[in-house]
Amino acid sequence: MAEKTLFERIAEGEIPGDFVHEDDRCFAIRDINPKAPTHILIIPRKPIPSNDHVEPEDADLVGHLFVVAKSIAASEGLVLGYRLVFNCGPDGGQEVAHLHLHLLGGRRMSWPPG
Ligand code: AMP
Repeated sequence: MAEKTLFERIAEGEIPGDFVHEDDRCFAIRDINPKAPTHILIIPRKPIPSNDHVEPEDADLVGHLFVVAKSIAASEGLVLGYRLVFNCGPDGGQEVAHLHLHLLGGRRMSWPPG
């Protein structure tokens, strides 16, 4: 059996997480090393390693992450906007091989990203 990902271990309570949302398909936690005043990770329970592993049957699940992101952004009071990011692979800056959507807000973001 494949080794559990960091985020599976958080979902199962083996490692603590600061949860802001949970449902049957995903959960959201505050990032341990926030890059903005609000930095939340929205994570599917299905341990898809990266965007490169997303299949057509995952389309509803991935769409659900965006719906949850909108709801969390509202509950966090991000009325001036926010940024949503999926890092993918080494060039994308991905460190944890379990798909996750970054929700960043509370400050004005620069563009292009570093
Ligand atoms: P990425 O670089 O896109 O794979 O993002 C991984 C994110 O997970 C980083 O922003 C980390 O700060 C964050 N992270 C790592 N360990 C934890 C943890 N135990 N709890 C919450 N966030 C974490």
